[in-house]
Amino acid sequence: MSEAVRTTCPYCGVGCGVLASVDADGTTRVAGDPAHASNLGRLCVKGSALGDTVGPEGRLLHPVLRGQDGVAQRATWDEAIQRVADGFSRIVAEHGPDAVAFYVSGQLLTEDYYVVNKLAKGYLGTANIDTNSRLCMSSAVAGHKRAFGEDVVPGCYEDLEQAELVVLVGSNTAWCHPVLFQRVTAAREGRDGPRVVVIDPRFTATCEGADLHLPIRPGTDVRLFNGLLSFLFRHGVIDPDFIDAHTAGFDQALAAAEAESGDPAMVARQCGLQTADVVAFYRLFARHEKVVTLFSQGVNQSTSGTDKVNAIINCHLATARIGRPGMGPFSITGQPNAMGGREVGGLSNMLAAHLELGEPAHRDIVQAFWQSPHIAGTPGLKAVELFDAVGEGRIKALWIMATNPAVSLPDADKVRAALARCELVVCSDIVERTDTNAYAHVLLPALGWGEKDGTVTSSERRISRQRPFLPAPGEARADWRAVCEVAKRMGFERGFEFAHPHEIFVEHAQLTAFRNREPLADGVPAARRQLQLGPLAKLDRRAYDALAPVQWPVTEQGAGTPRLFADGRFSHADGRARFVTTASRAPAHAADREYPLVLNTGRIRDQWHTMTRTARSPRLNNHIGEPFVDMHPHDALRSGVREGSLARVVSRWGSMVARVRHGGGILAGTVFAPIHWSDQFASDARVGGVVNPAVDPVSGEPEFKHTPVRVEPFPVR
Ligand code: SF4
Repeated sequence: MSEAVRTTCPYCGVGCGVLASVDADGTTRVAGDPAHASNLGRLCVKGSALGDTVGPEGRLLHPVLRGQDGVAQRATWDEAIQRVADGFSRIVAEHGPDAVAFYVSGQLLTEDYYVVNKLAKGYLGTANIDTNSRLCMSSAVAGHKRAFGEDVVPGCYEDLEQAELVVLVGSNTAWCHPVLFQRVTAAREGRDGPRVVVIDPRFTATCEGADLHLPIRPGTDVRLFNGLLSFLFRHGVIDPDFIDAHTAGFDQALAAAEAESGDPAMVARQCGLQTADVVAFYRLFARHEKVVTLFSQGVNQSTSGTDKVNAIINCHLATARIGRPGMGPFSITGQPNAMGGREVGGLSNMLAAHLELGEPAHRDIVQAFWQSPHIAGTPGLKAVELFDAVGEGRIKALWIMATNPAVSLPDADKVRAALARCELVVCSDIVERTDTNAYAHVLLPALGWGEKDGTVTSSERRISRQRPFLPAPGEARADWRAVCEVAKRMGFERGFEFAHPHEIFVEHAQLTAFRNREPLADGVPAARRQLQLGPLAKLDRRAYDALAPVQWPVTEQGAGTPRLFADGRFSHADGRARFVTTASRAPAHAADREYPLVLNTGRIRDQWHTMTRTARSPRLNNHIGEPFVDMHPHDALRSGVREGSLARVVSRWGSMVARVRHGGGILAGTVFAPIHWSDQFASDARVGGVVNPAVDPVSGEPEFKHTPVRVEPFPVR
């Protein structure tokens, strides 16, 4: 057996450390890394099955070019790079830089993310680069920026164990972030473990054993948390000294909360809850100082997702429950490197080093550091509108990296039509066949987990290394290398001379230090920003290879920082956090006679995204083997479908077929279907084809949790 390599799990944003080794017969063995602070040796069932998902089966092993006749042929890297560079160069020359775009992924390493953003924003001069992280946590990003002046998670995982009360909102933590849930559960076995409240329309595995479950009516979270703010004020639980010294906007936010949610009984009615349960939750929150409110996609994936995030943060600011052990609002990210992507400007409205693309002074800093010929002048298109632009012909070349938008985006049939009309679709992927790769004119083989070399950042800001322990299969290459080669072939000789991910990481760290020397236009030092990696810019190659997990901001001594804002200084120009006035809004599309049920979507325990890796593991497939739709028995009866039968779930945007299950902890009037299945694994089972494309007006995050549908029998002959 080979010596165990310390690496990081490539699935959820918990970012568990993994010890990986390879037997003499080639079998990959994995175990939780006891020295990694995120998981302390634990792994969930997906992490434990990582060894099943590596190996050459199904891998894309060499570049492929598809000609105008539609025939796909093996190509050399040189031919493929030339085709991409020629295509992008021609389209930029003929139509301008905004006619090309990139759609990337929270599966990329930070180093990959950094170079592709540099190429797009600094060299091509377009901000049309967005990421599938837009679909899962961009509302949290926007909420953080509004409240704190920067996209930061203030706390750390230890806070969940040190809390007296953990409030889980829109998060099936037991299935989607299992190791964090294990940490909470283990803490509850002790005498002083936290109480747990779960706020979720469904009774999920997370609710089992919770002290209180609030089966909230979908879309009403703002009202519930506005009601909490009002309750805290009326019961004297707010901290006026903290509010006066460190925040702005409290009076307006409170007035709005009081106006719409001052009465718990009214809140309960609006949220579809029992008044006693709402009051019990408010009392628990009021009584315990150490409260962590952890939230996830159930909050973010909404047309009022950003307001929901701020309504939660408002309650923590009002009580000064932030920046200290065992307390704070806590956004948990879905993907392994959603956070790393945010650091390097992975969203179309961001620049690297947590700078804003919409701010001229910030653009100047980044362009001066890169010494690049261009810098994108305006924020680019967000995921849904980016694919709309592809469909309308405004974007003519699209490079997709490590994601499967033909399955995962809302209104996915429209996405397919857009890809079909796009002049040049480039897909970088580890597997040959996906629903999206079917539209590619150029397929570039990428490195997978176990082969990649670089860093990821977890939900608690912890940077961890992903280290290779397997050889690259076939001709697969790192994504950053493919981007650099295309850049150079397009004539950008300088700026992409990287020979190793270490050099990219150091440049990224240097940029955070360079930024700090520059005052911004309003005279505020950019050093106020919490994303500080400057000391890591001194790492040599060996130190980078040996880098131990560390939470940014990184101190001059190289130590990490578990919690932010302990000094009450926030990243806004005046150092004050902002209360954001939030008002309840109904979801974009209401149920009606034609579409009487509300579709909620999410993950199951043992599959990951569109299953291109987890479906290779027999033990993971044993959990739930086919697409399903959970229904309340009364709704099933009314819809004329039986438990165990196939049914068609139909919305205004499309339909899918799934097996009916009764229960699933579902409220009457709602149904639930998982996001994972695609044409690759089941016929006519893509939930993305059903989901409506409405987005949050601030974050651009789609409303995956609320699509009106009807369910009808599926005729099987
Ligand atoms: Fe991987 Fe997340 Fe499971 Fe940890 S909890 S092993 S990061 S999937």
